[in-house]
Amino acid sequence: MIEKEEIDRIIEEYDKEKIAVGTIGSHSALNIFKGAKEEGLRTVCICRERDKILYQRFPVADEIIVVDDFSSLIDDEIQEKLRRLNVILIPHGSFNAYISMEEILNSLYVPIFGNRKLLSWEIDREKQRRWLQQAGLNLPKIFDNPEEIDRLVIAKFPGARGGKGYFLASSPENFKEKTEKMIRYGQLKEEDLERIYLQEYILGVNAYFQYFHSILNDEVELLGMDKRYESAVDSIGRIPASEQLQIDLNPTYTIVGNIPITLRESLLPEVLRMGDNVVEVSKRIAPPGIIGPFCLETIITDKLEIYTFEISARIVAGSNVGIGTSPYAYLKYGEGMYMGRRIAMEIRHGSEREELEKIVY
Ligand code: AMP
Ligand code: AMP
Repeated sequence: MIEKEEIDRIIEEYDKEKIAVGTIGSHSALNIFKGAKEEGLRTVCICRERDKILYQRFPVADEIIVVDDFSSLIDDEIQEKLRRLNVILIPHGSFNAYISMEEILNSLYVPIFGNRKLLSWEIDREKQRRWLQQAGLNLPKIFDNPEEIDRLVIAKFPGARGGKGYFLASSPENFKEKTEKMIRYGQLKEEDLERIYLQEYILGVNAYFQYFHSILNDEVELLGMDKRYESAVDSIGRIPASEQLQIDLNPTYTIVGNIPITLRESLLPEVLRMGDNVVEVSKRIAPPGIIGPFCLETIITDKLEIYTFEISARIVAGSNVGIGTSPYAYLKYGEGMYMGRRIAMEIRHGSEREELEKIVY
């Protein structure tokens, strides 16, 4: 694992007048780059040829480095180029999806805005659960064995991201029937069966809270909120129940976009306390805790109970709904604040106060 001291040495060499923000071109890159530019930082986009049009048409990337594959981020020459450009990398959902945790921890010698140590907590569902439990959050029940299924559960594939490949099951027989079918159709591998994660299905609406933990100001900010727009589950209600039964319809949860929401004001004190508690625990399990953006992914029931089913310890794509501004960011900062910009502001402050080593790992 790359030692913190090694990253500190790299950042020490950087030209502080020319700090650049870099990330791979997908997920929330536009959000990150726009924010960086508004804070007066340079931007570097590592992108694939086929996506280049996006970062040219929206003029937010000062430099575009074209790669065949995102995993090239690990290549020595790319890393060297990034260091030469004084780049601080902002990890987002595509890092986990396209680059292995081992590579990020052991081979990426470019400073990252965020806490590398928390990565192992985030991608391991059991560790993540312990973290959230210690923070006192309500969590859906977990079923270790399909034989124990006694209510509606949502089955999650290992490594599934963005909701792709989730399915529902209501009994051990129902689970068996569905997975056998999926194996037959090649949608599931026999060996993955063991690693399916079975979570109680919470009936309610989803709400994703976007927070920012400022290490420099020692404060947790609530900056935005969204809900998911998923295919095909969000369109099932448009088909009459009789047709649904005829075609044996199963909801799927492929994320297509995000929709901004605001919450009943009476729920907000709890949302703020949840964010604070999660950060407090993160300081214990991986000092100095979460650096910058994180998101609690929740379902809120008709009894107004908030169940957290996941945490992302990085910028989430849902924060794209706030590019420009969002109600909660507005309440704190007035116009023009959003997650990408808040990240860049922290980096700018870190640089100005000569405290960058507190926020890069
Ligand atoms: P993409 O760049 O669209 O291929 O996305 C990279 C990763 O981020 C994938 O694992 C996606 O499932 C996830 N992702 C992309 N957009 C969103 C979104 N709006 N909400 C949640 N996850 C997303
Ligand atoms: P994810 O990709 O993990 O953010 O979730 C994909 C979809 O599954 C979202 O619509 C969530 O609201 C939904 N979901 C995930 N876990 C649960 C749960 N335990 N109960 C109900 N819905 C869930």
